[in-house]
Amino acid sequence: MSFIHIDGSHGEGGGQVLRSSLALALITGKPFRIENIRAGRKKPGLMRQHLTAVNAAVQVGCAEVTGARVGSTELQFAPHRIESGKYHFAVGTAGSCTLVLQTVLPALMIADGESELVLEGGTHNPFAPPFDFLAKAFIPVVNQMGPEIRVHLERPGFYPAGGGRFTVHIKPSGELKPLELPSRGEIKTKTARGIVSRLPKRIANTETSAVCEVLGWPRNCCLVEEAENTFGPGNILTVEIESEHITEVFTGFGRRGVPAKEVGQAAANAVKTYLDSEAPVGPYLADQLMIPFVMAKGGFFRTMPLSRHAETNIDVIKQFLDLEIKVTEPSETVREVRILTDKG
Ligand code: AMP
Repeated sequence: MSFIHIDGSHGEGGGQVLRSSLALALITGKPFRIENIRAGRKKPGLMRQHLTAVNAAVQVGCAEVTGARVGSTELQFAPHRIESGKYHFAVGTAGSCTLVLQTVLPALMIADGESELVLEGGTHNPFAPPFDFLAKAFIPVVNQMGPEIRVHLERPGFYPAGGGRFTVHIKPSGELKPLELPSRGEIKTKTARGIVSRLPKRIANTETSAVCEVLGWPRNCCLVEEAENTFGPGNILTVEIESEHITEVFTGFGRRGVPAKEVGQAAANAVKTYLDSEAPVGPYLADQLMIPFVMAKGGFFRTMPLSRHAETNIDVIKQFLDLEIKVTEPSETVREVRILTDKG
């Protein structure tokens, strides 16, 4: 068996190199060996979240694995077949469980049968897709390519207490259909949503007001919510832009020592850059859409200048699949990512 060699320190050098390799190994059936796992991070190697993703991929892919333990910087993974069904993946800490889903979802979208997943851990973590981004931005685009994926949040989990839980129902559609996302179309709704768990509502009020002030939005774009049944305190700000062809979700994370106003202003500035660029797909969605788009073997989307995550993801994809991902620059603030199967 010849193993694809992945250098975990390449490019962005984070957990995504590992998760994408697992996802690609599952959908192609190709085994891989990875070294220098998360070499670009302060604490390299597998953390609980990554180990949960590895174990999830082992179950879904009936795979053989070596090196699957906390702290490990090397791993060998050989999948056998994709098995749909009922799964329960618990990170066991406040580590992100949306990233665990990111690992096995591509395989389960093309599996022989439907799957029901329960995921537990952090659902609203910095440096990971928050549940709201998954539900409103990522899944709706993927569903346009054929599968029917439904997600339901049972309990939000914030760092450091964790304890979040969500369910996922996946009805595969066979091959994915190529999608074209050239523009966002008319903006339909704009919402700044501040959510607090066991913290004063005024934090969310200050955050959402700051968003509206920077973006010149009316006050009725602000929503303040209190999360219930959580295991611990937390705060998140999401700014949602629902357009005709796509919804994008930008996030700010409240942290001790960072004024709520600054959390709101930073999120608003990210939204402003997105709105000024006219691209439908924002920077996070862009790196996460790469795998579904290559699975569809065609299509294109327009996005903003690529992040390091997106560039690294392209490099990892090319190690597993013989296709071209062509990136062009229609304008200074827009990039077009096109999947070409004949390398023409
Ligand atoms: P890594 O840093 O390598 O573990 O990868 C993090 C992943 O989380 C990437 O796929 C990012 O696109 C995604 N991500 C990080 N922050 C956000 C955010 N605020 N909204 C959506 N996705 C995010």
